[in-house]
Amino acid sequence: MMNTPLLLTDLIERAEVYFPTKKVISRTSSGVHTFTYKEIVQRTRRLASALSCLGVEEGTKVGTLAWNHHRHLEAYFAIPCIGAVLHTINFRLSPQHIAYIVNHARDEVLLIDKDLLPLVEAIKDQIPHVKAFIILSEEEVETELKPSYSYEKFIEQGDPAFQFTKELDENAPAGMCYTSATTGNPKGVMYSHRGIVLHSYALGLADTTALSEKDVAMPVVPMFHVNAWGLPFAATWFGTTQVLPGPYFTPEILATLIEEHRVTITAGVPTIWNGLLQEIERKDYNLSSLRGVLCGGSAAPKGMIRAYEEKHGIPFMHAYGMTETSPLAIIASEKSSLGELNQEEKISIKAKQGILVPGLQMKIVGKDGEVAWDGKEMGELLLRGPWIASQYENDERTLGSFKDGWLYTGDVVTIDEEGYIQVVDRTKDLIKSGGEWISSVDIENAIMAHEGVFEAAVVAIPHEQWHERPVACVVLKEGYHEKVSKKDLYEFLTPQFAKWWLPDEIVFLNEIPKTSVGKFLKRTLRDEIQALFQQS
Ligand code: ADP
Repeated sequence: MMNTPLLLTDLIERAEVYFPTKKVISRTSSGVHTFTYKEIVQRTRRLASALSCLGVEEGTKVGTLAWNHHRHLEAYFAIPCIGAVLHTINFRLSPQHIAYIVNHARDEVLLIDKDLLPLVEAIKDQIPHVKAFIILSEEEVETELKPSYSYEKFIEQGDPAFQFTKELDENAPAGMCYTSATTGNPKGVMYSHRGIVLHSYALGLADTTALSEKDVAMPVVPMFHVNAWGLPFAATWFGTTQVLPGPYFTPEILATLIEEHRVTITAGVPTIWNGLLQEIERKDYNLSSLRGVLCGGSAAPKGMIRAYEEKHGIPFMHAYGMTETSPLAIIASEKSSLGELNQEEKISIKAKQGILVPGLQMKIVGKDGEVAWDGKEMGELLLRGPWIASQYENDERTLGSFKDGWLYTGDVVTIDEEGYIQVVDRTKDLIKSGGEWISSVDIENAIMAHEGVFEAAVVAIPHEQWHERPVACVVLKEGYHEKVSKKDLYEFLTPQFAKWWLPDEIVFLNEIPKTSVGKFLKRTLRDEIQALFQQS
């Protein structure tokens, strides 16, 4: 067979040739704007051309601090299609971490949304390698960052017929993203053209997300979080209509976008879908266009899956991945060989993370080697494949996570007879009580299935006799504060767990602290709760 390179240039040019009239709908601070792919690709060529004139060339790192919108999409292609590296920056990180990753990546140009300018202005003296700042706005913007350009003016000078670089190596870096670490600085993961293209194929498989030209896809997951799970790349390639929800969206804005633009598939972390669920229970929307709510990043609670599927008739897709895995690695889908399943069995399958995506390999290693496929024995998940990272960029922590050609995910899982994987916990969040493991995720999911509970997180507190014991932190839904007591929750949990799994204490909170991508911030919560219990 021919060994033709897999390049992002082919993805965007396909959209231009086959789908010039298909749409990208972009919500920005100035309203909702619609572009055709023809316009998007022309604007992308202009941006690529203007960046080249600025001196961006093969290997140059270009950072973005931006929401999900059309300009960010243009950057997604313009930068790698001239051989430069698209470095999407999580703007919710602390200023120190943002400065660290801009410097660690050696970003030379930054593309910044207007409302995020103060974040960069605050660290401007700490990022000496950055030679130019492009403000993603229509108009000129006053800023302390120099030299700066306003995006629309900047691309106006670019050539709309600019030719993307064709002579790229498919293994050359196209993008990079930093993942938060338990302690210390974020770790950088580099994505190659080849990895992104193969991952895009994976998103199109009928038994994964089946993303296709006929879809209207709305990635709610930020474009800085593992490339919005690769959706903008695949959607552009396939000619899928894209709806980009822009800045400061609320559940109401998301529901309205789905309704108005007949979104068929959308993607985000469980906290987003929990918020949307409250909204659609509050007010009627017509969300009948949805064929899939893709959920990953942390475990989707069974109660939430049930509410979407049974109450609202919205199909739920549970998937697992990491920054290091591009991210799609595991996805829940019903195998036909399981025969006719009743509703409860279907929900149970969706509550697991699913089976390995074709193209990848896995191993689950426990205390005594690979675990049995019995749904019980726990082990760490190891992954390898063409869209799995092989290292962290210039980081000695590579040694801890990449060994013998495998990525050690740090996630403890079980696998059942059919190959369905269930994430039990992150290694560091498992609770060790009396020499046995307790899964914080299992208890959280059980509590969140209670009708009065908005969210719940379970963490360990030290215990003299048992080493660690679980404590549940619970946020009640509005209107339930008077109605739900600790006793009610214990009565609800008791039939579901062995006695020693039940939390020693249930603490009611107003909010669970979250990470920059909306996951429970277990570390902070653990510290707070441990301090609370030490005092008392
Ligand atoms: P961060 O480390 O900053 O949270 P990632 O998005 O890379 O960034 O997180 C990957 C981790 O998220 C995985 O290692 C796993 O612990 C967790 N995760 C992802 N998807 C799921 C899922 N469906 N169920 C449970 N945990 C998940």
